[in-house]
Amino acid sequence: MQETIDPEALHLAGFAGETSADEEVATLTLVTEREFSAKPDLRDSADRRWFDRQQFKGRPGDMAWLSPSELWIGWDGESNLSSLGHLPRLLPEGLYRCTNDLTPLQILGWGLGCYDFDRYRAAKRNPARLVLAAEERQGEIVHSVMATTLARDLINTPSQDMAPTHLEAEARALADKFGAQIDVIVGDELLDHECGAIHAVGRAAKDAPRLLDITWGNPDHPAITLVGKGITFDSGGLNLKPGGSMRLMKKDMGGAAMVMGLSYLIMSQALPIRLRTLIPVAENSIGTDAFRPGDVLPTHKGLTVEIDNTDAEGRLLLCDALSIACAEQPEMVIDYATLTGAARIAVGTEIAAMFTNRQDVALELNHIGQEEDDPVWPLPLHQGYEHMLSSKVADLVNSPPSSYAGASVAALFLQRFIDKTPWVHFDVMAFNTRSRPGRPEGGEAMALRAVYRFLVNRYAQP
Ligand SMILES: [Zn+2]
Repeated sequence: MQETIDPEALHLAGFAGETSADEEVATLTLVTEREFSAKPDLRDSADRRWFDRQQFKGRPGDMAWLSPSELWIGWDGESNLSSLGHLPRLLPEGLYRCTNDLTPLQILGWGLGCYDFDRYRAAKRNPARLVLAAEERQGEIVHSVMATTLARDLINTPSQDMAPTHLEAEARALADKFGAQIDVIVGDELLDHECGAIHAVGRAAKDAPRLLDITWGNPDHPAITLVGKGITFDSGGLNLKPGGSMRLMKKDMGGAAMVMGLSYLIMSQALPIRLRTLIPVAENSIGTDAFRPGDVLPTHKGLTVEIDNTDAEGRLLLCDALSIACAEQPEMVIDYATLTGAARIAVGTEIAAMFTNRQDVALELNHIGQEEDDPVWPLPLHQGYEHMLSSKVADLVNSPPSSYAGASVAALFLQRFIDKTPWVHFDVMAFNTRSRPGRPEGGEAMALRAVYRFLVNRYAQP
């Protein structure tokens, strides 16, 4: 299906459409090591010596100019973000056209590799642009780049400029763009709506805690609810984090950023679902009004939670939002959160850890994640560890004294607020600790494209 894409959006995503005769366009040719070594016309030729001179063998990362307008790129023959993702910021500025047939994922890799966070300094350079043939210009690719860019920008923006008020403004702008409805509950109003946990986590901060609630789409369509953790800065609270652990905590609203990016993509592609996006937002700060270890918090679901550690605040923020989400019994609730260090110990920083009460969904998402080059991996929601959440004075404790199975226990805590609703929980890093092709160092959307494709497969197939 051919769509008309706004040339401005195409440009922003790192691409170009029609080019005029006077514009110079260099060609890119992808070649594998095996293909390159088998090329008969290269044997003993001047071209071969020229390739040798540039140490080109067709390995991933190899690159050779055959002439000022002809470039060869080595690759591994796989369709993923890595094929082209390193090129927009490596190649000289200008226009490039690929002589190979490209997959949507390879084109997407180019768009994602254009990213640069330049809000606080001049842009270093413009990215090189990929010229797309008419049939390659797909709105889904362009908007997937925009959705990821939105999430990355929100995460990369320092907490001073991404406090609860700012995050609310971003959510309002997103809702306005697609004609969605947004309701916001701020500060002490949270108590009137039984959101005692969100209120407690954020009440010591200067900028008040709040709950953002966006709804969009036809009410007759299947209801999907996204929930994203929006801690705009996590000092740890009275259980103060050590300096090194606090350094990256501007990214603790990464879950909020991802559900906003995913909502953008869903709404831009007009998926036939009724979308609700709940974003609890707070800064976990220190002040005379800070919540304390030993305090017992009321929650939306009516369960009481004893605070063992004020740095396990993400699950408190989420528990009220999940309870609100499940009250209307949607088809599925999907939450994203930078929740535990334990998830990073288990799967590292480059895979989203996944927990769900639907085994078939875990298998499907894991499979889609590999196809979409957006890896998500299931971890156990092992009910046998429930006992670790028991409290002597309340219904449950927010974090157990033992750190064993920390990511699973955090997920079990959340499950107490879910009941039987089909539910998926992602525990994510939200940050690239190193640059990879299509994935520059800094804020990152994880499990966004995998879930999008899952929703398309499930609800938008003709
Ligand atoms: Zn924390």
